[in-house]
Amino acid sequence: MAEQELKDISIIGGGPTGLFAAFYAGMRAASARIIDALPALGGQLMALYPEKYIFDVAGFPKILAKDLVRDMAAQGLQFGATTHLGEIVTGLRKVEDEGAGHFVLETDPYGNFLLQGYELGTARDWLRLGLLYLQDGTWDGQRLLPEGWSNFVRTPAPAWSQPVYGGMFWLNRTRAWPLPEDAYYMAGSGGQYTFIVPTHDLVVVRLGHYKGEALGTQALTNALALLLRAVPQARAPWQPDEAAR
Ligand SMILES: Cc1cc2nc3c(=O)[nH]c(=O)nc-3n(C[C@H](O)[C@H](O)[C@H](O)COP(=O)(O)OP(=O)(O)OC[C@H]3O[C@@H](n4cnc5c(N)ncnc54)[C@H](O)[C@@H]3O)c2cc1C
Repeated sequence: MAEQELKDISIIGGGPTGLFAAFYAGMRAASARIIDALPALGGQLMALYPEKYIFDVAGFPKILAKDLVRDMAAQGLQFGATTHLGEIVTGLRKVEDEGAGHFVLETDPYGNFLLQGYELGTARDWLRLGLLYLQDGTWDGQRLLPEGWSNFVRTPAPAWSQPVYGGMFWLNRTRAWPLPEDAYYMAGSGGQYTFIVPTHDLVVVRLGHYKGEALGTQALTNALALLLRAVPQARAPWQPDEAAR
């Protein structure tokens, strides 16, 4: 990216969300730039359906997607946000300087389009990851994760009103699954799961696709209940430290 000027806010993506973010940055007197991989602002509206009418935007009985983008760009850029089109953000690099340091968004003109976060792994890979947590972050006697990390991830996060989430892991404390309350898990799209069940020294991986997710989830629920009956309990459920909650 040619421009190296420091901005308060760098917005990745010039779709409706990015354009409105630029507008709000300006409202709050923050400088902003928008970076988008596409050659035009507007995200999906311009890339996929510029000539389609949209009916669910407040204040417009109907409006063509390209016209909405035109007006959103006028609104979003009115405070001077700059745009960088045809630039793909592929990384974030911390640069130390004499102050607090700053970040550089790394772009690559050749590919590696980052859309959402995703991890691709085989069932065995997910199983290994689950085992790593089951073994308190150790593998073959070697500590790979910091001491206490696996307890941190399975401690209910205080910001959630229900104890359903820990530190990047979902928790079974509301008994969403027929597993002990201290089971915790990774959940991916399409009903893909890796469950860590410390009471039974068990890790369960389920891979699948969106198609058939509902039936797959039902089958998984049944399978988990059967597994718990088949595998003997090894230890009592773990309880988080009251002070950490
Ligand atoms: C066919 C179709 C019809 C639709 N009809 C309607 C409708 O009638 N009403 C309605 O409300 N919604 C509709 N939608 C949904 C609507 O288009 C989306 O909700 C909307 O576009 C989301 O806006 P966004 O800014 O969050 O993301 P997007 O529009 O997806 O924009 C994200 C932008 O980020 C850029 N980007 C992503 N990663 C990077 C990166 N690493 N580096 C640089 N750039 C990056 C992309 O190039 C993209 O331009 C429709 C969607 C489709 C596909």
